[in-house]
Amino acid sequence: MTEDIAQIKRENEELRKQNSVKSDLISISAHQLRTSLSALKWILKMFLDRDLGAITGEQESFIQKAFISNERMIALVNDMLTLTHAEETALQFKLEEVDLIKLTDEIIFEFSGESSKKHIEIIFLKPDTEISKVSCDKEMIRVVFQNLIENAMKYSSEGDKVILSAKEKDGNIEISVRDTGIGITEEEKAKIFEKFYRANNAKEKDPVGSGLGLFTTKSIVEYHKGKIWFDSKAGEGTTFYFSLPILKSGDKM
Ligand code: ADP
Repeated sequence: MTEDIAQIKRENEELRKQNSVKSDLISISAHQLRTSLSALKWILKMFLDRDLGAITGEQESFIQKAFISNERMIALVNDMLTLTHAEETALQFKLEEVDLIKLTDEIIFEFSGESSKKHIEIIFLKPDTEISKVSCDKEMIRVVFQNLIENAMKYSSEGDKVILSAKEKDGNIEISVRDTGIGITEEEKAKIFEKFYRANNAKEKDPVGSGLGLFTTKSIVEYHKGKIWFDSKAGEGTTFYFSLPILKSGDKM
């Protein structure tokens, strides 16, 4: 029996090593790919900004297409890196006591440049009373907030508002991110957490996107034993919710 266990442990260790080599390879290739794509982005941008001289309307439209494809690749590589990182660190989350109200404030502050550029106001409706802290990996939960806020802004229009709220409910802290953007059609609702899935109206609104953001977000929330869900009406807007359990001291994740 003990020999069986020792054997399983050895095999596990071997698999862990192989998996780590695979993740390293993905990360290295993705980083190199991102460097080349970024170089290409600036060259295309120089053409579009006429830094390299005049171009015809036809040339501009082709370069614009190349620029958008390149942006799409950069988004894909970035999301792949986040996902690989999340999968790698899943078994070794650095848990700490986190005040989600403070974290939300911090993240909204980080978005202030982008939101003013896009003329979209981000509002945080804070609870009236103090809420409990949660035990989570702060950097991973930061990725969850970033993906949901980025999507809310990406699928909204100038002048719209993105509204966040937080509340304590049934032993969980529940966060919501609401927008009044394009919404999600009934037929596509079941698919949006799938890897690489992008709804038709999303592709039309913004050709840049990998369809990996929500998959990663869901994985992170579920690693924390939390839940993620949404309400949406096509053409009217979407609210994403996620909840994280309030852990009592002595609880294990
Ligand atoms: P991406 O935004 O890169 O396409 P995500 O994985 O973040 O990928 O989201 C998957 C899909 O879910 C999006 O392509 C879009 O169809 C839908 N979606 C996500 N967030 C929103 C939102 N706030 N409003 C409307 N659709 C959304």
